[in-house]
Amino acid sequence: MAAQEDAFAEARRRMVEEQIAARGVRDARVLEAMRSVPRHLFVPPKYAEWAYGDGPLPIGNGQTISQPYIVALMTELLEIPPQGARVLEIGTGSGYQTAILAHLAAEVFTIERHASLAAEAKARLRRLGLENVHFRVGDGTLGWPEHAPYDGILVTAAAPEVPPALPEQVRLGGHIVIPLGGRGGQTLERWTRREDDFERESIIPVAFVPLVGKQGWPET
Ligand code: SAH
Repeated sequence: MAAQEDAFAEARRRMVEEQIAARGVRDARVLEAMRSVPRHLFVPPKYAEWAYGDGPLPIGNGQTISQPYIVALMTELLEIPPQGARVLEIGTGSGYQTAILAHLAAEVFTIERHASLAAEAKARLRRLGLENVHFRVGDGTLGWPEHAPYDGILVTAAAPEVPPALPEQVRLGGHIVIPLGGRGGQTLERWTRREDDFERESIIPVAFVPLVGKQGWPET
């Protein structure tokens, strides 16, 4: 068992070096979080041996755990302040991205529409001793206004547009990181709140599962 844990830790070091740092993610705190969170515990056991591969994997309910590089990139783009940060995540899924955020922010608020995924994610994070995460089951397209404003909002499912409820829930200078586009493919975008409006940056092409909700895609 200990030998296997060592093998997973070694696989994680290589994942960070070959898939993440090699592609230009530089933030030392992000790289450290990616080296420490055991991704093999966030995938169904039959996929554990592929947990440190360079792609997404199925997690049930037709959903996927994102590719490690994309998780690292989205986290870096959020520019989470080192002290006292509060982050909102929409699309808990396996909870892997949530765990990375929990290493960098003081408090993480995360919303998932599938109750079974949310329950499994919550159990995993508790087992890992990450206690600064608040879970909610429901439609994340409406945000979580009770705890706003957030230093950053990370959306891990694809939306046609930024859900209108979100911009007002991010603080001045804070970022929304979100894949925007059609159901088949999207562009990862970063929106930064300025005094009068949002600065908008296009980052890279991505493919996410749809954000389904009142201010997202309709259920099909
Ligand atoms: N960050 C996750 C990615 C999961 S995939 C991980 O690495 O595991 C995206 C998730 O968004 C899915 O679990 C899906 O059920 C969820 N989702 C889709 N629409 C949603 C909505 N309106 N509110 C909350 N969660 C949503």
